[in-house]
Amino acid sequence: MSWSATILTLFPEMFPGPLGTSLAGRALREGIWGCQAQDIRVFATDRHRTVDDTPFGGGAGMVMRPDVIDAAISATLAKNDERPLIYLTPRGRLLDQSLVRDLAAGPGVVLLCGRYEGVDQRVIEARQMLEVSVGDYVLSGGELGAMILLDACVRLLPGVMGAPESAVEESHSAGLLEYAQYTRPAEWQGRAVPPVLLSGHHAEVARWRRQESEAVTRERRPDLWTRMQVAGGSAAS
Ligand code: SAM
Repeated sequence: MSWSATILTLFPEMFPGPLGTSLAGRALREGIWGCQAQDIRVFATDRHRTVDDTPFGGGAGMVMRPDVIDAAISATLAKNDERPLIYLTPRGRLLDQSLVRDLAAGPGVVLLCGRYEGVDQRVIEARQMLEVSVGDYVLSGGELGAMILLDACVRLLPGVMGAPESAVEESHSAGLLEYAQYTRPAEWQGRAVPPVLLSGHHAEVARWRRQESEAVTRERRPDLWTRMQVAGGSAAS
């Protein structure tokens, strides 16, 4: 059984979208993962196919109805479906590499994409959804967030990356940002590549990269740096 993603959305035509190209697209064609987008609107019961209504308590915008979302979930998922049901929302826990790794190691995901002001809280609770945010900003819908989550998971599936070791040293894999990367030409517009990278001395290169990783993390992401130190993961004092 391949890793499988079901996306509940008002815009099923957005999928697989960019995930149909490059690494994820090839993996999709090879059956390493599957992607099924389900139109939520099909489960509206009135003749206008209404999926939203005004918020109780007043205020701007519309809220997606719990009964329509619930019907979409019941009709789309098998009774014994063990995939986590995730609602993409800026109110959720932040998506990070550790969650991505956990999700990629499981059977797949079911993703609910909100629109308007979001989804009625009762169905989120009744269905015990995991609420996940892709960052501290507000998108107009959950679809792009779903694509971010899917892309991050799919590239970790066995057979997707040409060089699986890429995932071992990259940013966020061990709590640090990655070191800077360089390729040919060795000198470009008067800028030389750090000489150690041309030395062929593997231990020196590894030491330089570790120092570079630590320096850039300390400078750009003091939050990650502090977390690393608390966890005792840094070689630096
Ligand atoms: N009123 C909501 C709030 O303030 O939390 C924002 C609703 S947003 C305009 C519409 C939908 O976009 C959300 O229901 C959610 O599915 C999606 N969305 C927006 N920002 C997101 C983020 N940072 N992460 C994940 N999904 C997001």
